[in-house]
Amino acid sequence: MGPGILEGKMKSVKRLEQTKNETFISGYDRKKSREWGGRLPVAVVFPEEKSLGMSTLGWQAVYRLLDENDSFYLERFFWDKKKNSVVSSDSDKQLSEFALICFSLNFEGDFLNLVRTLYANSIPVYARDRQGWPLLMAGGPITFINPSPVMSGLDFIYAGEAEDGFRKTALEVKMHWMDGADRQKVLESISSFPGIYVPGRSYRVARQVHASGHNILAKPACSAFVSGKTVFRDSFLVEINRGCPYGCRFCAAGFVYRPRRTARMSHLQKMIMQARPRKVGLVGTALTDWKDLQKFLKWLKNEKIKFSLSSIRADSLDRTFLEFLRSCGIRSLTLAVEGISQGLRAGVNKNFSEPKFFAAVREISRLQFNNLKLYFILGLPGEDEKDFQELALFLEKLDQARNRGKDQRKKGLELISISASMFVPKPWTPLQWAPMDSQEAFKEKIKKFKQLCLAYRGMKFTGENPFQARIQGLLARGTIEVYELLLLAAQSGGNWKQALSRWPLDMKDYLDRERSGDEEFSWDFLDMGVEKSYLRREWHRYWKRIMTRPCPDVGCNECRRCGMEDYPAHLSAEA
Ligand code: SF4
Repeated sequence: MGPGILEGKMKSVKRLEQTKNETFISGYDRKKSREWGGRLPVAVVFPEEKSLGMSTLGWQAVYRLLDENDSFYLERFFWDKKKNSVVSSDSDKQLSEFALICFSLNFEGDFLNLVRTLYANSIPVYARDRQGWPLLMAGGPITFINPSPVMSGLDFIYAGEAEDGFRKTALEVKMHWMDGADRQKVLESISSFPGIYVPGRSYRVARQVHASGHNILAKPACSAFVSGKTVFRDSFLVEINRGCPYGCRFCAAGFVYRPRRTARMSHLQKMIMQARPRKVGLVGTALTDWKDLQKFLKWLKNEKIKFSLSSIRADSLDRTFLEFLRSCGIRSLTLAVEGISQGLRAGVNKNFSEPKFFAAVREISRLQFNNLKLYFILGLPGEDEKDFQELALFLEKLDQARNRGKDQRKKGLELISISASMFVPKPWTPLQWAPMDSQEAFKEKIKKFKQLCLAYRGMKFTGENPFQARIQGLLARGTIEVYELLLLAAQSGGNWKQALSRWPLDMKDYLDRERSGDEEFSWDFLDMGVEKSYLRREWHRYWKRIMTRPCPDVGCNECRRCGMEDYPAHLSAEA
């Protein structure tokens, strides 16, 4: 994640290159030669479309981290549908011309594009068959949740937050490249670096956590580019926090980014004043928990900078805050409800108060927001008919709350957009032992939910594609054998059904059974710091509907993450 925005060359951050739709913000002079000279040529690959890449912070932070150092020559590669591969956004150079290729893996779907890219660039798909350069590595959240499905195609992975260790590894690679060393020598020399896992050479890898002080994120990430052609148009993204204290039991981010750390407002203000963007996108979890949020938003408003918020919680939406958001021109809000009943929400440890939620909906309607988007999860373990009966009641109360907020002319919140995703048991969560619903069960549940929404005007329902959700589940929980399936899918133009019919294994074995307590997982070679026994305890609490308190501000010893060596005790104990 983010490099030292306030340090070194970044003190002179300025806009160095501006094209019609893109502004580059960094300390390194891009007007330098487009030849690499004595620098290590590094391809930073985001295997999705550029519009999505430019709205994603993680890889941009890594780009900045390397770009601050004169040792590296960087180019960005994004997915190009027509070429069925990634292509450079900065020149017409080919991927295989680069010595180090760094894939940023953010979604399970990226696995397929990684394999397609290897085929399109005639790079042998198995690392063991490759000779010489380039070296291929991956980082990003999916890499440290479960990279097993693509491990056979990679030379190494970097597990964790890049600030402390990744540049050191890249410098080591550069030294060997300059010396003309062969790949085996390089891989041997980096195999014991912190956060590095080289298949066949490393044993277990602990996620690198950027520790800078208790609860403090001293080096928040921010955009390296601002573009008009992105999901968050023209936005300069800043990282408000990393990690989430709530520990929702289905959410990997709540466990793999522990401990929770928050940026200092003064740091964020300096970053923004240096970049002087028109719009700021606040990135983080449970943003409304941040005690400085309202102060920070007021400051942005005074500076005439527009903003957007990535995640807010219903229970912290009071009248004053909603009025403020409305006065800033915000017209659409997104809230996560998650489970379809209170019991399921308690099971997943979702801190959700129905009275507070409906009071917020009433206010949202009174203030005439245009659209309220609500997220639900279908298929949580044990979900049954009673939960759907409760959902029917919930939707009725939702409609009533919206109508109560309308004025005498019946003006208020017109559109409620409901989106239901399928529950996928993710590694590193307490629900990693759970089975996943079958495609038929999902289809049935989507139909029921849709039917319930049809009873209300202005309530729009969208359900996830059950087959795609199952594929996501398979990739999320995949073993190294899944690589063969990815190769088949790439060979059949992305046709998963065809690939599955030719694959000797059965996806049902990965998805349809509850795992036993002593089963080994394909992600066990990673160490996220959170004890497996803690996750197992949370799995039992799911069934008993017992909630676990959010991480306390002063840290604790519950999941043992705060006691990790890379999060020094003198910092974690600081009150
Ligand atoms: S040890 Fe306690 S405070 Fe630290 S991450 Fe785990 S639960 Fe949260």
